[in-house]
Amino acid sequence: DDRASKHIDKARSGLPIIGMEQEVMEAVSENDVVVLCGETGCGKTTQVPQFLYEAGYGCKDFPERAGMIGVTQPRRVAAVSTATRVAAELNTPLGAVVGYQVRYDRRVDPGTSVKFMTDGILMREVQEDFLLRRYSVIVIDEAHERSLNTDILLGLLSRIVPLRRQLAQESAANPPLKLIIMSATLRIEDFLSNKRLFQTPPPLIQVAARQFPVTVHFSKRTELHNFSDAAYKKVCKIHRQLPPGGVLVFMTGQREDLDEVGPAAFGGDAAEQAGELGTGELEAEEDENAEVVSEEDLETDDEEEVVVMGGAGFTPEQIADAEEHFEASLGIDLNALKESGKPDEARGPMSVHVLPLYAMLPQAAQARVFSPCPAGHRLIVVATNVAETSLTIPGIRYVVDAGRAKQKMLEEGGGMARYEVRWISKASAEQRAGRAGRTGPGHCYRLFSSAHFNDTFPQHTPPEILNTALEGVVLAMKAMAVDKVVHFPFPTPPERAALIAAERCLVALSALAPASLALTAMGKAMARFPITPRHARMLLQVVHDAATTPQHSAAPLAYAVALAAALSAESPFVHIDSIAAEEGDGEAAKRLRQRAGAAHAQLRSSFGDAISALNALCGYESAGRSEAFCRDHFLHARNLREMAALRAQLARIVAQQLAATAGGPEAGLPSLKVDARELAKALAPPPQKLVKQLQRAIAAGWADQVARRVRSTEHVASAAEKAGGKRAVRYRTCTLEEDVFLHPNSGVHRAAPQFAVYTQLVRTEKRPYMAGLTEIEPQ
Ligand code: ADP
Ligand code: MG
Repeated sequence: DDRASKHIDKARSGLPIIGMEQEVMEAVSENDVVVLCGETGCGKTTQVPQFLYEAGYGCKDFPERAGMIGVTQPRRVAAVSTATRVAAELNTPLGAVVGYQVRYDRRVDPGTSVKFMTDGILMREVQEDFLLRRYSVIVIDEAHERSLNTDILLGLLSRIVPLRRQLAQESAANPPLKLIIMSATLRIEDFLSNKRLFQTPPPLIQVAARQFPVTVHFSKRTELHNFSDAAYKKVCKIHRQLPPGGVLVFMTGQREDLDEVGPAAFGGDAAEQAGELGTGELEAEEDENAEVVSEEDLETDDEEEVVVMGGAGFTPEQIADAEEHFEASLGIDLNALKESGKPDEARGPMSVHVLPLYAMLPQAAQARVFSPCPAGHRLIVVATNVAETSLTIPGIRYVVDAGRAKQKMLEEGGGMARYEVRWISKASAEQRAGRAGRTGPGHCYRLFSSAHFNDTFPQHTPPEILNTALEGVVLAMKAMAVDKVVHFPFPTPPERAALIAAERCLVALSALAPASLALTAMGKAMARFPITPRHARMLLQVVHDAATTPQHSAAPLAYAVALAAALSAESPFVHIDSIAAEEGDGEAAKRLRQRAGAAHAQLRSSFGDAISALNALCGYESAGRSEAFCRDHFLHARNLREMAALRAQLARIVAQQLAATAGGPEAGLPSLKVDARELAKALAPPPQKLVKQLQRAIAAGWADQVARRVRSTEHVASAAEKAGGKRAVRYRTCTLEEDVFLHPNSGVHRAAPQFAVYTQLVRTEKRPYMAGLTEIEPQ
C-alpha cells in the first residue's frame, strides 16, 4: 500500500499542473469565476479538486469554505473513474472524503468533501435548491465539449455565483460560491467574451502543454463504409510490425462496430469481455488477412501523407529519454531491437489484450483499461469519444482514428433528436491524435485521406444545444424555475424565434399555461421523464386515462411505451422501391415488390404510420426478436432492434417514475402502480379499442402538428379519378403558413383522412410532405 501511494506521488509530481497550484489557488481566491485550460492529461480533473481540498474547501473547519467541492462531468464513466482515482490519490476509501453521484448510483456520505457527478445530477440539484447552498465550489469540467447540460449549467451558474456573493455581503453566515470552468481546448471564446454570461470576462489560466510529438499518417483513400474493417486491418498491422505500446482505436460508438473491431474480431469471446488472447489465435486471424500483413511496409502501401504535430515543452534529449524509458518500462531493450534490424523477430511473439471502452459499458469493465496490461501483452482499447478528452488511458502509443462519431442531430418538424454517424471535427481529430503522445512520441493512423479531412471535416463540433430540440430544453428550464427562457444567458444562445416556437409547442402540449407561460401540473409531470416532451405527453395521456378508469390494466400503458419507442427510431419498413431496384426491372422484381407489399400490408394499419410501426414492433417482439421475421416481412432488423432496446429502457424509466410518485399528486402524476416487467412484455398488435386510445394519446403529444384536409371528400375522390389515382391532397396546419401534403409512402396516403397528425415534415424540392402520419378523429 505504501509502495502504491509512493508510485502515485511520483506520477502526480510529474503532472504539468502540479507546479501551478499556487497560481490556480490565488486566482480562485481573488475571483469568483476562473477559466482553466490545459491539454488532456495535464492533471486538471484529478488535481484541481485536490488543490481546493488542501486549501480548506469542503472542510467543516472553515465556515466560508465548508460547502462541498462539486465537480461535474458530461459522462458517467468519467465521474466514477475520476472519483475512484482521486480517492486513491488521497489514500481514502471511495465514498468517504471523495465520492460520486450518477443516475441510479451514488457513493457519498455526510462527510464527503469532493463530489464528482454527471452534469445531469447537478441540474437536478439546481431544481431543488437554486442557490446550491451545499457547495462552496463548483467545477464544470470538460466545458469544451459543450454538452447541453454544461451549457445550461454555465448559464445558471453565471447568475447563482453573483447571487451567492450578494448574500455573503449581507451576512457572514452565507458563504460565497466559487466557479471553475475547465477545458481541454482553447475554444472558450463563448465563455470569455459573452457579456451576457459574464459581464467582466473571467481570468484565464493556461497550463503549459507537454505533449510528445505525434506523427500523423493519413490514408491514401477514405474508407466510406467498411471502416471497422479498415480499422481492424490497421490494428493488425501495427501489432505485427511496430514496437510495443498500447493502441487506442476510435470507433463510432455503435455496439456493432465495437464488437467488430473489439475482442470478438480477434477471436476472443466478447461476452467474457476479457479479450485476452494467445498469439496463436491472433495469427490465425492474420493469416486470413494475408494481404494485409505483407512483411513489407506499414508506411507506403496505403498511407499518403505524414504530418508531425506537437512536441512542445520537450527538448530532443527528453524525447529520446522518454522513448527509452517507455521501452524499459515494458521490459524491452530498445538497442537490441535496433541492432537486430528485425524488430518483429527480436521481439518475439506478443499477445494482445483487447478491451472495449464505451459509455454504456458496466463500470467494472470500464475500470479494466486503467489496470496494468498483463506482461508481454499489447493493450488494444477500442473506444468511443469517451477516450477523446475525459479519460486518459495509460501506455497508449498508437491511435487509430476512424474519424467518425455518433452525433446528435436535429430533425425538422418532428422535434426529435436522432443519433447519426458523422465525421468528427478537425479539433476532435487533433484531440484523438494527441492521445498517442502522452507517455512518449507516438503515431496516429487516420483512416481517411488528408484531402477528405481538409474538405469535409468541420473546424469544431457545434455545441449540443444547436442540435437539440428546444422543447425539451425549455421544459427542463421551466422546471428549474427559469421563467424567461428567451433572456437566459446561454453561452451560445439558440435563435430567439426557435425558443419562442418551443414555448408555443409546450403550450399546445398543455405543459405551459397559455398566457403566463408558467409550468402546469402536466408540464411538471412531463419534466420528470428523461424523454422528449412529446413522448412524455403521449405517455401521460394514457396514464391519465388509466388512472381515471375504475378498472385499469397495464395494457394501454404497455402499448404507449412500445409506441413511444417505435416513434423514436426510424421506420421499420424497408422501402419497396429500393428492394425492387436491386433486382432490376424484370418479372422477378415485380414479384418481389408484390411479396413485399403483401408482407407490409399485414402490418400496416389504416390508422397510420405510427400504429403500423407499433404493429411491426409487436410482431418482431412476439416472434422472439427474430431476424427471420424481419426478412419475411421486409423490415429493417436494425431499426427494430433499436426500438426493442428503447422499449425495454423506457419501460424501466416509466415504472420507476410512476413508483416514485405513486400517490403524490404534488408531482402532477396520478397514482398508478405498474410493474416494469408488465410494461416490457411482448404484445400482440393492439386491438381496435386500444388503437383509438393511442390515437388520442398521439394527438395530445403532437397537438401542434395536426393537419386538416383542405377539400371535401367528394372533391378528393373526383380529382383522384381525373388524375388516375395520383393525387396531391392539400392539408392545412395550425402552425405553417403554407399548405402541406401527405407523404406518398405513408399508409394513409390513399385514404386521405380529414384530420391527421404528423410527426415529421419532409421538404423536397417539389413540396413539403408530412410523414409519420396518424389519422385522428375530429375533436
Ligand atoms: P486532465 O483532466 O487534465 O485531462 P487528469 O487529471 O484526468 O487530466 O489526469 C492526469 C494524469 O493522471 C493522467 O495523465 C494519468 O497519467 C493519470 N490518471 C488519471 N486517471 C487515472 C486512472 N484512473 N488511473 C491511472 N492514472 C490516471
Ligand atoms: Mg479531465
